[in-house]
Amino acid sequence: MLQQWGMQAALQYESEDFHFVASESWVTRLKASNRICQRKVTRYIKSINALDTDTIISEATKFQKRISKIITKFDLNFVINTGQTGCEYRSDVRRSLSGKGEKLTEVFIGDFNKVTHSYTAQYAVTATGKLLPRVFLCMQEPKGQFGPRVKRQVTLLSEKFGNVYVTASKSGKLTKQHFNEFVAEIMKPYCEDSDFLLILDSWGGQTDISLFNSHFTDDDGNCTATVEVIPPHCTPFCQPCDVYFFRQVKNFIKKIQNCTEVLQSNKELSTREDAIKIHSLIHSQLSSPLFEDMIVYAWFASKLLPERKVFQNVNEVCFPPEIRKQKCACGKLCFINCANCRLFICFECFYNLYHPSSCARNVNVD
Ligand SMILES: [Zn+2]
Ligand SMILES: [Zn+2]
Repeated sequence: MLQQWGMQAALQYESEDFHFVASESWVTRLKASNRICQRKVTRYIKSINALDTDTIISEATKFQKRISKIITKFDLNFVINTGQTGCEYRSDVRRSLSGKGEKLTEVFIGDFNKVTHSYTAQYAVTATGKLLPRVFLCMQEPKGQFGPRVKRQVTLLSEKFGNVYVTASKSGKLTKQHFNEFVAEIMKPYCEDSDFLLILDSWGGQTDISLFNSHFTDDDGNCTATVEVIPPHCTPFCQPCDVYFFRQVKNFIKKIQNCTEVLQSNKELSTREDAIKIHSLIHSQLSSPLFEDMIVYAWFASKLLPERKVFQNVNEVCFPPEIRKQKCACGKLCFINCANCRLFICFECFYNLYHPSSCARNVNVD
């Protein structure tokens, strides 16, 4: 990054007798003389006026106590937490294996312009450990919407996969309209007329409670929605999605994007279609009953549910250590242990051939 910045800054002075190349040794000297080093980020701060930790913890505790009481009045299948997580089209490769003493560690990353392309995935989980039937994806598109050709392609993919709802915005983040769309397309078909409790973070766009009144009022004029908003800055403590669930989603994305088969072929899964397919696969895997206890744990760890069971996470269920010894039915080395049919599947059969369309669980259901 420093090399890029250096070369970019030098461009304005470029002439016949001045040509600057930010070499490896230049970076080393620059870093040494300015005492710059690389460190892992230990904490992300969203607002400069962030509250002090004690206030946050005490707010979080109040919220946890209050909600854990309310929860008991609802059918746990209708106690829902939804949250969003930012993702990138390409995997973020920060480290790589290299021979000791190697000066230059290079990683193939293809088209550089895609680095900034991002999107938001909005998942919803219940206090019984289930996922709502579809994941909501908001892709970053320069004009804020899909062009006609892309729109057709996205519609085809959504119809084929069945568990993704895909829309777009300029930033790849959700606006108020998008959240409205999420409520209408994901929440409403699941909740219908049942009483439900929704736990939301205090993100500006989605705290408009009147939205829920209009979507969830039954024939007698009763509102079936109870919406509870997590106090500002308390999300990392109180939101099941953030406390445990999204880490598992991210881990799954990395497993797919950085798998040997992809890296060795110098390919990368960085297109819009890849992003949609990846979340469809992850959603289908995480919807397995094998992950219910893991999602319940996320509620327990957020101190909203009093009990949990011993659970297995994504690595234990889908990517156990013995996996590399197993072979897929097609003869190739296995990539994943499917959480639904429990067969060992290679990357090609899982990803390229979109395993859910032939997964035994789905065949049985059909
Ligand atoms: Zn195979
Ligand atoms: Zn399967």
